[in-house]
Amino acid sequence: MKALTFSGRTTNCQRMTYISTFPHGSRTDAHALRPDQGQQASAILAGMDGAREKDGIANPTACSLCGGTGMRITRDAQGDRVAAVCSCRVARQALRRLGRANIPRRHEHATLENYESVETTGSHETMLQAHFKAHQFVLDYPHNTDGRGLMFVGMAGRGKTHLAVGVLRALIEEKGCQGLFCDYGDLLKQIQNSYNARSDTTEFELLRPVIEAEVLVLDDLGSTKPTAWVWDTVAHVLNARYNHKRTTIITTNFANRAPAGGSKEDTLGDRIGERMRSRLAEMCVSIEVLGADFRQTAGSGEANFQWSKAEFLPGG
Ligand SMILES: [Zn+2]
Repeated sequence: MKALTFSGRTTNCQRMTYISTFPHGSRTDAHALRPDQGQQASAILAGMDGAREKDGIANPTACSLCGGTGMRITRDAQGDRVAAVCSCRVARQALRRLGRANIPRRHEHATLENYESVETTGSHETMLQAHFKAHQFVLDYPHNTDGRGLMFVGMAGRGKTHLAVGVLRALIEEKGCQGLFCDYGDLLKQIQNSYNARSDTTEFELLRPVIEAEVLVLDDLGSTKPTAWVWDTVAHVLNARYNHKRTTIITTNFANRAPAGGSKEDTLGDRIGERMRSRLAEMCVSIEVLGADFRQTAGSGEANFQWSKAEFLPGG
């Protein structure tokens, strides 16, 4: 079958072409969109040429390009007639994937484009570098990333979750990925609740989407008090994803260092175990996000704790 293409479009629309030709882009499903997801569509809609296409997102039969079929005839570079997936269908598919990604409301508008540090005067160099690397990661995915993900490391309030969601959203919209956002603490709580005899959900049912997501954001890794059970659960999730070369994007407030053994602040090694921290070094490129808290949490204990590059293992 000839490659499906959009003709005579802008850069944004080439982005749409990528979605439409990606294998996942051809999936259909019956999941309903949340009402507020019209706003999330803005990034996709921004790539469309006119109002008549936008009409086709909410109401496929209103699309004057395809009349609701989702396919239309266009011409390729040689002037030959070719079948093309209509942009209204591509946008609907991206919206469905975003709707299933479980991005929390607080971060639902986070994109790489609106990461604050870019606009913040005097922002820390590492924020800009992290932003650049996040962009590059999206460009490189999937062939040049080869299953590896990212781990944003630094104190709270540096925009780590914003960057992680920005990457997730871009991969969903631009690369046709099936993605999932998962709060580490919430996940462990839900699993513990599942042991309650009255619970309808099993541990297996809770972990399955987390393990199987094509791209997973695991937010706030290490936030839960470490116990043998927590370590086992983390090991189960990370090992399963590692074995299948699935991309995992992590944020953590704990320094990416070996266990400190309770002598001072906990490290990631203290919180998830040194073995899993080593596994993460194979799974993710570690990116430091240092600098001041751009949420301006004046007076908080965190604001008094300044990290320096020396606190991280080189390349860890
Ligand atoms: Zn259409």
